Amino acid sequence: MKSAVRPRADLVILGAGVVGLSAARRLVSLGASVTVLDAVDPGGRGSRAAAGVAIPSVRLFDDLDLLTFARAGRAALARDLESLPGGDRLRRGQGILRVMPDAKARDSLVEKAAKDAEGPGLWVDAAKLVELEPALEGTPLFGAFDSTHGHMVDTDGYVNALRDAAIREGVRVRTGTAARSITETSDGVEVHLEGETLRADQLLVSAGPWSAGVAGLPALPLKPVRGQMLVVHQPGLQLTRVVSGPSYLAPWREGEIVVGATEEDAGFVEQVTPAGLLHLSATVAKLAPRLRDARFVRAWAGLRAVTPDGRPYIGRYPGTRHTYVATGLGGQGILTGAFTGASIVELMEHGRCDAVAPFDPARAIAARP
Ligand SMILES: Cc1cc2nc3c(=O)[nH]c(=O)nc-3n(C[C@H](O)[C@H](O)[C@H](O)COP(=O)(O)OP(=O)(O)OC[C@H]3O[C@@H](n4cnc5c(N)ncnc54)[C@H](O)[C@@H]3O)c2cc1C
Repeated sequence: MKSAVRPRADLVILGAGVVGLSAARRLVSLGASVTVLDAVDPGGRGSRAAAGVAIPSVRLFDDLDLLTFARAGRAALARDLESLPGGDRLRRGQGILRVMPDAKARDSLVEKAAKDAEGPGLWVDAAKLVELEPALEGTPLFGAFDSTHGHMVDTDGYVNALRDAAIREGVRVRTGTAARSITETSDGVEVHLEGETLRADQLLVSAGPWSAGVAGLPALPLKPVRGQMLVVHQPGLQLTRVVSGPSYLAPWREGEIVVGATEEDAGFVEQVTPAGLLHLSATVAKLAPRLRDARFVRAWAGLRAVTPDGRPYIGRYPGTRHTYVATGLGGQGILTGAFTGASIVELMEHGRCDAVAPFDPARAIAARP
């Protein structure tokens, strides 16, 4: 079939998840013409699979650059939820209990967070835990840090609100349309679709774990890490905040409770497995045994994009002239997606963005033997 060449767009973005849509909105606000493509319909495959915990993970206390980035992400997400129509209804619950297995883990976190103004939260013992969240009764927990910062986000609702806003603001969003390959030319890029080629000045790849697999772009070390999720419902037993330790339970829709998530090296296979359900059931048994006989509502699996050093790639796509990349947000992309989108645009516009300088993808090439 003869391939039709479409008129030039200033920018093509691969991926209509939180990152791609946030970048697209920022770019049209600066006067650019933008087309966002997503291979699936509706787009945002990873974003829609997320639980929506909009709270920095306790692991980030090991990497202060990432913790700072996550906090900036939280502020950008809050601005989105304030400004998007219906955004205030996308919040669920408030705060987190960071459950610690023993005194050693508690003291180690206190030490890591010593220089951090916000810290992990106020220490509460096991009795107080049950007072705060009666669903935890019957479990021999040691204690937890209770923090009121952050909440859950309705991820489907958030991606839909971002997409609708992007379209209203002038972004062209084409879902169910995959980029088959990319050719960089002297003055831009050609994005080859099935039977059609789009031309643009620049390309942004924000295609989650699929970002490193687009034909025509140099290889970039990035892998999919599967997460399986489970939702249960037990009338009378609800949560008001996230309970994390290290898997988590959190408030979901209408009194339901979401349980997450596995972290599996399973390639690009997005399927729920008996082993995954066992892991999630064990989390229920450990953190909230009263939920053991709760009604099964739903389970699903999705893929996170993870880099070898656990830090995102936000910057120019290594080995290219007109292509940028923003991915590798791991399990924190709902929290940091809006900020990532805004930051990559700042970098494209001004040639630098201090907030994401530690996440320059050039390090992936420099690290090669
Ligand atoms: C099970 C699970 C639980 C999670 N829980 C949380 C959480 O609680 N809190 C949190 O902050 N984060 C969480 N995350 C992480 C979060 O979902 C991701 O980091 C984030 O959604 C990534 O958004 P994105 O826009 O980069 O990618 P995505 O939303 O994955 O969007 C990328 C899109 O690119 C498209 N694409 C791929 N290839 C092509 C192509 N060739 N052409 C066109 N389009 C293409 C894909 O179809 C996809 O829709 C979780 C992730 C998983 C899997």
